[in-house]
Amino acid sequence: MARLVRITREVQTALIAEARLEPAFECCGLLAGRNGLITTVLSAQNAVASPTAFDIAPAELFQLFQRMRNERLDHLGIYHSHPTGENAPSQRDVASAYYPDAAYFILSPRLEAAQPVRAFSIRDGRAEELQIEIVDVS
Ligand SMILES: [Zn+2]
Repeated sequence: MARLVRITREVQTALIAEARLEPAFECCGLLAGRNGLITTVLSAQNAVASPTAFDIAPAELFQLFQRMRNERLDHLGIYHSHPTGENAPSQRDVASAYYPDAAYFILSPRLEAAQPVRAFSIRDGRAEELQIEIVDVS
């Protein structure tokens, strides 16, 4: 059975919107929350402004981790979009996955995408798809 990652409906909506906002480049950022539920999208700038790669500048990454600490949020995930092709991990994504405990979300800006938001666990050079549970928070 696939392992589960939980996100709020607001996060799901925000991720799709962000992927579609700049469909020429990969968008990227971190995901945070508490008790294993992702509640917060921390958008970052794609320092390489590329349609096939993303990179978060070290200074911005430091600020985002600082913000999570200040707001007492746990770092639970990382996201980026694939403007072209499938939203599944590329070889580059697998090779540069440095957070074995984080969920790697990959988004598609394409309106016809069957699953515009997918999540993967990437560790030891292997990607395994995670089941996403959408949580309605009232
Ligand atoms: Zn990728």
